[in-house]
Amino acid sequence: MDCIFCKIATKKIETEFLYEDEDIVVFNDLNPQAPVHFLVIPKRHIASANEIGKGDIPLIGHIFEVIAHLAKELGIGEEGYRIVNNIGEAGGQSVPHLHFHVLGGRSLQWPPG
Ligand code: 5GP
Ligand code: ZN
Repeated sequence: MDCIFCKIATKKIETEFLYEDEDIVVFNDLNPQAPVHFLVIPKRHIASANEIGKGDIPLIGHIFEVIAHLAKELGIGEEGYRIVNNIGEAGGQSVPHLHFHVLGGRSLQWPPG
């Protein structure tokens, strides 16, 4: 499949990983919107959060646990940060492979645009 995040996950596109295990990889966003901006993706292709099934519940829990761990490690756990998941065109999703943005290191505005 011609999916850029599948290529990153399978190392067909060389990307430095902040974290990797059997199920997920974490890497910095190419176009960071905050001092800390990384992406967490499952290795398995899931098009968006719309496609999450019951069998994916442990995977999603695992992703959030890893995010909390990395946020602490990167020094943004205490001050706070944001987890963003864009879904579909109106949601602003540009890469059709499930990914969670983690943004921190500055004060973030609400609501988003
Ligand atoms: P979305 O707009 O789908 O929520 O987020 C996709 C994100 O992936 C964007 O923030 C974009 O900068 C990032 N991105 C797109 N292509 C690449 C890439 O090849 N490498 C990395 N590290 N990030 C990418
Ligand atoms: Zn993919």
